[in-house]
Amino acid sequence: MILTRRSFMHAGLAAVAMPAPALRAADTLDVVATTGMIADAARYILGDAGSVRALMGPGVDPHSFRQTRSDIVAMTRADLILWHGLYLEAQMEEFLLNLARSRKVVAVAEALDRERLLGHADYDGRFDPHVWMAPAIWTEVVAAIADALQSARPDLAPTFEARTQDYRATVARLHDYAQSVLATVPESARVLVTAHDAFSYFGRAYGLEVLGIQGISTESEAGLNRIRQLVDILVERGIGAVFVETSVSDRNMRALIEGAAASSHEVRIGGELYSDAMGEPGTYEGTYPGMIDHNVTTITRALGGDAPERGMDGNLAAAG
Ligand SMILES: [Zn+2]
Repeated sequence: MILTRRSFMHAGLAAVAMPAPALRAADTLDVVATTGMIADAARYILGDAGSVRALMGPGVDPHSFRQTRSDIVAMTRADLILWHGLYLEAQMEEFLLNLARSRKVVAVAEALDRERLLGHADYDGRFDPHVWMAPAIWTEVVAAIADALQSARPDLAPTFEARTQDYRATVARLHDYAQSVLATVPESARVLVTAHDAFSYFGRAYGLEVLGIQGISTESEAGLNRIRQLVDILVERGIGAVFVETSVSDRNMRALIEGAAASSHEVRIGGELYSDAMGEPGTYEGTYPGMIDHNVTTITRALGGDAPERGMDGNLAAAG
């Protein structure tokens, strides 16, 4: 990291004003985040004040993800560990709760007002964790991420605050964009059929009915009954497009399309959506805004609505 004169001066002040800060101001903050969506916000807010490692890369399913040995090493060395919570990281939860006894560990989505959460179909008293799908809710999680970073580096709070506002402004624009383009999807086509139930918040926010082959977690197997039931719905309602997900196998989706074809109803893949993981690092789709922009634009166009081919700001990769 290049020390600016400003941060260098802060380093001196902090040493005088706070005898035992959590971190010396000259140190950069070493953050580990579980999902790419959390890492994206943390990375933006931190800027060059630290580094963020995301444990789950493109195509990784958080419901079944287990920490590797090198992940454990990274987490035990990190200044701050950010995880989602709401039982998203089902296989990591025990480890993270234990780690919280000795390290600074924050479950950022747990800060959300329960009133805004959808229930979990499979478990009483649990919530649907897929809140990043609704930018108007995710912005509150971004605020929780910013709070955690500020408490780790209070000396940089003003810088973090400005960058947080910036990031949240982009998230607000995503919501406005989604609202305006998805409103152009014809009434009869407002059905989103996906591999697992990751889009309920999205559907609620933008007025789409959402049908997943698998439940809220990918851990449960989709039964043949569920596939048959969905085939009937596709045929009866004349639904022409379904969507695959980058972090879930497309096996069930192929069975669905074949089932519909057997009933002489042609269904095509409307596109590949980023449900629980973002795209490749270094690409626009590998950021949270790019992920949502891609989903909104792909869904709108596949269901017969109007959206610019390259998305909100013309940044999306051209359709292959
Ligand atoms: Zn999921």
